[in-house]
Amino acid sequence: MKRFFLLVPMAAVLQFCTYSQTPKTTGMNSPKNNPHYSNTDSTKLNVADTDWEKVLPADVYRVAREKGTERPWSSPLETIKDKGTYYCAVCGNPLFISDTKFESGCGWPSFYQPISKGSVIYTPDNTYGMTRTEVQCGRCKSHLGHVFDDGPPPTGLRYCINGVVLDFKKAQEAEKKFQNQDLKDKKNS
Ligand SMILES: [Zn+2]
Repeated sequence: MKRFFLLVPMAAVLQFCTYSQTPKTTGMNSPKNNPHYSNTDSTKLNVADTDWEKVLPADVYRVAREKGTERPWSSPLETIKDKGTYYCAVCGNPLFISDTKFESGCGWPSFYQPISKGSVIYTPDNTYGMTRTEVQCGRCKSHLGHVFDDGPPPTGLRYCINGVVLDFKKAQEAEKKFQNQDLKDKKNS
């Protein structure tokens, strides 16, 4: 009987590990030849779209600089639960952390809070006959998505963000500690 109870959580852990390794998400949107990209430089950018077009992948450019929207449920980042930081795929500005990500069911990666007050900026968007608030990167002013007021506590906000303009980097150290703790808990139980 005891063995059975030990096997079930192990199977769950193995399944989770396999799943989390399947989509290649870490750094997937990291630009290769983008001189403006930095995870640490917070200097505001004022780069012409013609220059962005030269250094950004076409799908990133379309969403970020032409205010496009990716197909719902098309981003592997929508469902991942890994610990880490989400950066702007255009300029590298830190935007969100995984702790504030939640499953909204809307088909795009959703967060209830940006990483800091200045990491994003807000602009009224009245296109398509709707009254919405556009969310842009606070450093490069790229279009990220929209924010709605039907999110979970503590903010009640839902930042609905196109996955293609997010560059996710896993928190390796934090994850290792978490996994060790998880194994210890299992041994002790
Ligand atoms: Zn940016």
